[in-house]
Amino acid sequence: MNDCVFCKIIHVEAPASIVYEDEICLAFMDIQPVTPGHVLVVPRQHAIGLADLPTEIGGHLFQIGQRISAGMKKSHIRCEGINLFLADCAVAFQTVFHVHLHVIPRFAGDGFRLVFGPDYRNLPDRSELDRLAKDLKNFL
Ligand SMILES: [Zn+2]
Repeated sequence: MNDCVFCKIIHVEAPASIVYEDEICLAFMDIQPVTPGHVLVVPRQHAIGLADLPTEIGGHLFQIGQRISAGMKKSHIRCEGINLFLADCAVAFQTVFHVHLHVIPRFAGDGFRLVFGPDYRNLPDRSELDRLAKDLKNFL
């Protein structure tokens, strides 16, 4: 955990431009923003992924992300819309292995895109959706 950059920020051992903090989380400006004003909401408790994080803390991260989103729209940050994004595991683009919620201000022509796989336009039939739902239900 000592080499976790987010833990260093939380313990004031590394610099950050803090937006918000409370006893559960900290929010600060991303040093490599997707767009200007990009914020990260980070739990004070070190947790690598969502499965390692108590759901109450996950819910709190979302609440703060929602609050920051509302503030962002009122601020002078260019913000016509917002993406909340959370990457869980490297395959999902997680690069810092301490859970964090991205709050990304969006505007027309900002260049940020989602690229879908080649099967995206091939809609699954209902039986496939039902099969996947049934499988997932067993693990909730
Ligand atoms: Zn950490």
